[in-house]
Amino acid sequence: MPRYEYRCRTCGDTFELSRPMAESAAPASCPAGHDDTVKLLSTVAVGGTASVPALAGGGGGCCGGGCCG
Ligand SMILES: [Zn+2]
Repeated sequence: MPRYEYRCRTCGDTFELSRPMAESAAPASCPAGHDDTVKLLSTVAVGGTASVPALAGGGGGCCGGGCCG
């Protein structure tokens, strides 16, 4: 079951929930019980890690830091 990360806009806490993909957009309450939460982009990859040519190649490395968009 995929994990989703949420942030509470009331207390600023971030938390993860494991829930079915069909419920990923459903409201989630923070551990403190607040309902005003937003879903963050998931940082948990399903499956293996993608082969990203980072750091090893050199020659700029701009996209490694996300400044390319
Ligand atoms: Zn909260």
